[in-house]
Amino acid sequence: MRTFERLESEVRGYIRSFPTIFTKAQNAVLTDEGGNQYIDFLAGAGSLNYGHNNPVLKQSIIDYLASDGIVHGLDMATSAKERFLRTFEERILKPRKLQYKLQFTGPTGTNAVEAAIKLARNATGRQNIISFTNGFHGVTLGALALTGNRKFREAAGVPLTHVHRAPYSGYFGMDVDTIAMLDKLIADPSSGVDHPAAVIVECVQGEGGLNVAGLNWLKKLEQLCRRYEIMMIVDDIQAGCGRTGSFFSFEPAGINPDMVTLSKSLSGFGLPLSIVLLKPEHDVWKPGQHNGTFRGNNMAFATATTALNHYWGDGRFQASIEKKAQTVTQYLNKLVKNYPDAEMTRRGRGMMQGLAFKDPALADHVTSIAFQNGLIIETSGGRDEVVKLLAPLTIEPEKLLAGLDIIEQAVAETVSQAKGNSFTKKEVEA
Ligand SMILES: *Cc1c(COP(=O)(O)O)cnc(C)c1O
Repeated sequence: MRTFERLESEVRGYIRSFPTIFTKAQNAVLTDEGGNQYIDFLAGAGSLNYGHNNPVLKQSIIDYLASDGIVHGLDMATSAKERFLRTFEERILKPRKLQYKLQFTGPTGTNAVEAAIKLARNATGRQNIISFTNGFHGVTLGALALTGNRKFREAAGVPLTHVHRAPYSGYFGMDVDTIAMLDKLIADPSSGVDHPAAVIVECVQGEGGLNVAGLNWLKKLEQLCRRYEIMMIVDDIQAGCGRTGSFFSFEPAGINPDMVTLSKSLSGFGLPLSIVLLKPEHDVWKPGQHNGTFRGNNMAFATATTALNHYWGDGRFQASIEKKAQTVTQYLNKLVKNYPDAEMTRRGRGMMQGLAFKDPALADHVTSIAFQNGLIIETSGGRDEVVKLLAPLTIEPEKLLAGLDIIEQAVAETVSQAKGNSFTKKEVEA
């Protein structure tokens, strides 16, 4: 690891939690230089829903390169892009009766968020955006202003403005209707909350600690947006592409957002690719007004098209996700019940679930023991108090169980060590 310590900036992050040098990966297993294998419950923070080096996707990219397909084409028309657009329409939009145009942004998720809020501001002529407590939307300045996490906000260096923070679903407990609160603030011309251009929301908060928006809450948020002519943006960068079961995380709520951002697992292969889905009537962009050298990544188009055809042509993949999600739910419920001293609750939906610990130090301890025992898993949440399971959706059922068993072992060890006070509580970074 010395090369990294000497040459790589202090900004490096995940490398610190998993201090080994990885060489290879297949589906849900990573291998390091020493030949040690690790089950991957991080999956590129949700970028590898179809696993590492998925053979079907790998073949499509090999074929594409072998045929001298365009690798870089700015945002010019290519046959790979045309195939992706048609497939996305056929496999995703049409069956869900959704009508969106696609905007290809720069390759990162945060760039899709920047494009969406810029468009909302331009289309409405308003500046204010509503974002929610504990939301995470990226770390470039516009998206960072929407993000709640203090560590990221502190690094901004300038004021983060033009955003009003509203309490998320359940933020004050289930008895407080946070939509009614927001409604009153918007309805009152002198509340001090400027009429917003848009609200941006994650249906399950990925980085914010697996908080789940109630389906009825989402419906009421949509109604509020319609009533006050505010655009509703769903940031589906982490929760989308099947992570919660359905392709979009908002499907079970039956809503129809004005814009949707997608990135992380969109390419299917871990390649950077980001889009904004926008209702045609909002498409007020002038040609090239939001640009970027790497808009639309043709290799990613090739793998994304294959992923959509292979996994989303019928309901089988979705059914398999739901089955695995049930396994996770049952297993985590069992842990919550069997280890009361750990003071855990289960959080999340679909294949983005986790364990929230009352004491964040315990969550941290669980992930480091898990790593020693061959499982890659991270924490999330405002106090890093949630152990977050993001296994590839394609994980073999026995590997899923093996990973869950490692978590159980880590929880058991953590509880017994905490009782003996054999580890001191770490200062919790905010
Ligand atoms: C990861 C993420 C982003 C930012 O994507 P980057 O590619 O890291 O810029 C934005 N929104 C959500 C919900 C995310 O999970």
